[in-house]
Amino acid sequence: MKYFIRIWQGVEHKVIGTPKDKHTCKECNQTFNQKNFHVASAKIVGKEQLVLKRLKRTCKTCENSKRALRHTLNKDPKTPEKPTVCLHCGREDAQIVLDHDWNTKKFRNWACRNCNAKFRESTFDEYVEAGKKWYHVT
Ligand SMILES: [Zn+2]
Ligand SMILES: [Zn+2]
Repeated sequence: MKYFIRIWQGVEHKVIGTPKDKHTCKECNQTFNQKNFHVASAKIVGKEQLVLKRLKRTCKTCENSKRALRHTLNKDPKTPEKPTVCLHCGREDAQIVLDHDWNTKKFRNWACRNCNAKFRESTFDEYVEAGKKWYHVT
């Protein structure tokens, strides 16, 4: 498998692909060189147990503006205090993240990482629509 070296936070990371690779951001749908994507999860390959890194699917610009928004919402006095359990599935051992509506930029709820990834729709109506597709209901 092809990889190249990226220095990030003073550490060398072996990133899958080539330095010329282009990726499309799933948030803004724009295509950028791999440099515009942060290093994400690791993948261990081959007999040599080589640790290769994948890149995030959202570009740095989108990641940064998301982080800034999360930060603002975290400090907002109207945002309820962060719970220790997930308000959706009740898990206590998962990391709780702030779930916000990316379109309205408003706080939605606190959720664990799993639930946050699962419930991507902004409104209940959108959620129902997405569910219909999933279950092939017309
Ligand atoms: Zn983007
Ligand atoms: Zn949950």
